[in-house]
Amino acid sequence: MQDNMIKTENLCILDKKFAVINPCKMCQPMGAVQALLGVKGAMPIIHGSQGCSTYMRFQLCRHFREPINVSSTSMSEGTVVYGGEGNLLKALSTIWKEYNPEIIGVTSSCLTETIGDDMALIIKKFKNSHPDEDLPPIVPINTPSYSGSHVDGYDKAVKSLVENLAHPEGKNKKINIIPGMISSGDVAEIKNMLDELNVGSIFLTDNSESLNAPLNDDVAFLPDEGAEVEEIRDSANSIATISLSKHADSAAMFLQKKYGIKSISGPLPVGIRNTDQFIGYITKITGTKIPKSIEKDRGIMIDAIVDAHPYNYDREVAIYGDPDVVTGMARFICELGMIPSVVCTGTQSSRFVQDMENIAEENDFSPVILAGRDLYDLHQQIKCMDLELLIGNSYGARIAKSEDIPLLRMGFPVYDRLGAQRISILGYKAGIRMVDIITNTILENYYDESGHEFTNFNEISC
Ligand code: SF4
Repeated sequence: MQDNMIKTENLCILDKKFAVINPCKMCQPMGAVQALLGVKGAMPIIHGSQGCSTYMRFQLCRHFREPINVSSTSMSEGTVVYGGEGNLLKALSTIWKEYNPEIIGVTSSCLTETIGDDMALIIKKFKNSHPDEDLPPIVPINTPSYSGSHVDGYDKAVKSLVENLAHPEGKNKKINIIPGMISSGDVAEIKNMLDELNVGSIFLTDNSESLNAPLNDDVAFLPDEGAEVEEIRDSANSIATISLSKHADSAAMFLQKKYGIKSISGPLPVGIRNTDQFIGYITKITGTKIPKSIEKDRGIMIDAIVDAHPYNYDREVAIYGDPDVVTGMARFICELGMIPSVVCTGTQSSRFVQDMENIAEENDFSPVILAGRDLYDLHQQIKCMDLELLIGNSYGARIAKSEDIPLLRMGFPVYDRLGAQRISILGYKAGIRMVDIITNTILENYYDESGHEFTNFNEISC
């Protein structure tokens, strides 16, 4: 029931509607494919009709601005009636022979979940029909798109990868990191921080270079960077797993339960407090000392926040998108002295609601919390409030335009600006840049060229 996911004293959404308008989430295979594109040599196959893979490729290409290859079992009317086994067997054979992938990830779709195709059984049949061949690992990922969201699809894909590949064999002194659906730039920020801390890691999975690649003569058909199959196998031997996203920790739970690997879930290291918490986990688990370079970045970020405070203080903000990005940004926005008055996610999540209630209590404000809602609801709410900044993906651009509120683009998808794959918000270094970007957006929109704040009096006297 959606309405129990709305928590607020100030709700303006009065009309009861029976459709989702401008959704704030995407379907499960979208997240699963993103996870697979962070694995070196991986080929995703969507077991469904061609339109599904076209949609994934289109959405991912316009966000990451990289060639994205996603294959399809190309279901038709006949195969819907008689089952898609033949199509999946043919697709596996073709992909294996033509493209020689290091791993194949097979996701389901609305269609094949509804007709009840048993992907694991079909994959087993394929393997049994090639007993003497050196087949790549083939991983089934059940992603029924009429439930959950792309965030659940990502979670299921990472879990399926470790369920099928992780193999205990000694200890490796590394930390597994499950990044969640963050940009390539943010994965790179986390990798850089771990390098500074001199801590070895396995990323489950790693899109830092596979979806932000240099231009060269060879266009790679499969990701030529990313987490290697052997690394995923080795994840069963690590010291701990940190899921940056609280909504993508199923693989960590699996590794904890099956191999006794300590699991830590979130929060996304956005802003000072959350990044401190992340660094704290790492130092506690590994016994490593925090280097001067990281202390310095933290100090610069605090200095930037203090410098920005007079411009940002008490300004009301709306944030929307994936649940962990929204809660991470909400805490960061509070650190800037601003108020995240409305937060919205398409994912129905009691964890999200609880996290936002905690942030509100700690910072003494009463936000409108919309979970499992759409951007129509967000717009209705924004209309009756006095907000000065929107933060979220490109789907909110029309709201920003019609309400004349500046929009700071981040999250997924961002298709109407360049460089979405490099937008980074995690850690201290990216945090410093974000303080500047947010504050300069405020200055650009609410201050004149001499640095004076617009007021009604100023506007009248002009
Ligand atoms: S919602 Fe279903 S039909 Fe539509 S793209 Fe996703 S999997 Fe395919």
